[in-house]
Amino acid sequence: METLYRKYRPIDFDTVVGQDVIVKTLRNQIVKGSTAHAYLFSGTRGTGKTTVAKIFARAINCPNEINGNPCNECPTCKAALDGTNLNIVELDAASNNGVDDIRKIIEQLEYLPRDGEKKKVFIIDEVHALSGSAAQAFLKSLEEPPEHVVFILATTDPNKLPETVLSRCQKYNFKRINIESIVAYLKRISEAEKIDIDEDALVFIAEKSDGSMRESISKLDRVRAYASSDKLTKENVLDILGIVDDDDFSKLTKAINESDIETAISVLSDCLERGKDISQFTNDFIWHLRNLLIAKDIKEPIESLNITRSNFEKLKKESELISKDVLIYFIEELSRTINLMKYDENRRVILETAFIRLASPETNFMETAVMARLDNIEKAQKEGMVYKIVERAENAEKQGDSKPSNSEEEKLENKIKEMKLTPVTMEEITKVTENWKTIAASTSKIFKTVMMESKPIPGNEKEPGLIEVQVDEKGTSFLRKFDDYKSLEEALAKSAEKIINKKIIFKLVLADDKKYVKNVTWSLDDAIEKIDADVGEEE
Ligand SMILES: [Zn+2]
Repeated sequence: METLYRKYRPIDFDTVVGQDVIVKTLRNQIVKGSTAHAYLFSGTRGTGKTTVAKIFARAINCPNEINGNPCNECPTCKAALDGTNLNIVELDAASNNGVDDIRKIIEQLEYLPRDGEKKKVFIIDEVHALSGSAAQAFLKSLEEPPEHVVFILATTDPNKLPETVLSRCQKYNFKRINIESIVAYLKRISEAEKIDIDEDALVFIAEKSDGSMRESISKLDRVRAYASSDKLTKENVLDILGIVDDDDFSKLTKAINESDIETAISVLSDCLERGKDISQFTNDFIWHLRNLLIAKDIKEPIESLNITRSNFEKLKKESELISKDVLIYFIEELSRTINLMKYDENRRVILETAFIRLASPETNFMETAVMARLDNIEKAQKEGMVYKIVERAENAEKQGDSKPSNSEEEKLENKIKEMKLTPVTMEEITKVTENWKTIAASTSKIFKTVMMESKPIPGNEKEPGLIEVQVDEKGTSFLRKFDDYKSLEEALAKSAEKIINKKIIFKLVLADDKKYVKNVTWSLDDAIEKIDADVGEEE
């Protein structure tokens, strides 16, 4: 059976959908007889490049053109439609990209068109796929094409073409076809073919085809072929095409954003049970998140979103429930997950783990995770919840008032002086380092994990009773997000004081500080010896 796509492929400019400007320009050239020698049609798949090239090729040679359209009735047009017109040569460079393939074309260039026709037209599809030497050979012909030759080059990837080719062509960029136009065309086909299908099913097919008419029509073809009932609904389409409903993705996004792991896992599980492919599922989910991200910033549906207005309103509403940073974080993490899935058989486990990780940003220090967390805090504040970001040391400011000190260093020195009046003992320092996890865990929720992973290094010759907290790179970049991370030092001191009833000074040493020791290995005994010696001197 002939595919719907072939059957309904436009054979004149009037029926080409969604490329009005290009069609108008090309028709004008035919009417005026002012065609060029080389054209470059670029654009994504299924936007009509080859279809327009074929119509244009016929129009160039048709003796009876009507308003720039080929008549499709004369022997020239008929032969072209049958694929037997020797003046129209087509080459698909995706599968014939060698020097020999191009040489065959070059050899034909010199011969005049047969049957008294005006031009020889060469349509080269996916021209960017020509191999290096083939492209070189072709370029020479393109530089000085014979008077009777027209090249129509089509490509999905014009950036891969050398500037020398680009500069010799009239360039036409084929846009993605908008949803409304695709739906209207699908409707026409359905009516002509007596396919009984709901409008929202057609909308869904169009939206899932990324602006490609060809893709939309082949989807309709598949749905028609596999449908078991008379009336086709959106549910039939979802099942037959194995596509996940956007409503499921909305549910999933909400669940992950609200740390509702149970729902997230069950949405995935339902979809897989219905036979969806897990990689496709992940890709489509990323695409949904990408659409949310775009929808956040725009007021009107734009071409690249590829959705109808009413679905845009829905998407826009959904996008307002989730922050930009969180979306970016989700997209980045899931893109990494897709790569992991390529090399591992446990694809489901990997994806589920990713969902759990996304739903629990506190397990992750990635920059975007931090932003996601900050965002949740901001949201909590807006909602009137008291959310204490950092425990501020109560007396830090009071001290500042009575005895203003110019720098952090000075403050520290003063404190050390105070300290020396009540020297700490070996047992006390040991107690603090042994209880480090407890002390670290008592800091605010946000800093807790960073502190627990940092290493306390007790004392040095100059500053006995001082504990340097070495924060690794990950922790450092995290802390830098907060203006007042320094207040952690006070919080640690307070917590340690509860254990040994004495003040100890904590100083954060960040990974980019010259005092930072990479891969620190230290022995408590060494450190204690030093402190002992210093404390002894004091006394
Ligand atoms: Zn004709």
